[in-house]
Amino acid sequence: MPYGIIKVNRAKCLQCKEILISTKENFEVTCSCGKLTISGADGYLERTGKKGIDFQELTIFDFSNIPEEELSFPTEEEIEDIRKKYETE
Ligand SMILES: [Zn+2]
Repeated sequence: MPYGIIKVNRAKCLQCKEILISTKENFEVTCSCGKLTISGADGYLERTGKKGIDFQELTIFDFSNIPEEELSFPTEEEIEDIRKKYETE
């Protein structure tokens, strides 16, 4: 399944509420409470957390470069299956 281009690589630490943005491939940025570290840029996403980390993914993807016929999204049924799987674990 083709994925979109990563437009803005960012995540928010829910403990200190800081929003981190990584703009370079070999760049690491850590929030002020020290629990969340993100790295990567438009090529990949990486998140590293300390124990008890809680964060929100805020990355923006750009799908505009992918031809419509190559885009695929899960159906309602597939989403339901995934939801059930995680509810029972
Ligand atoms: Zn933090």
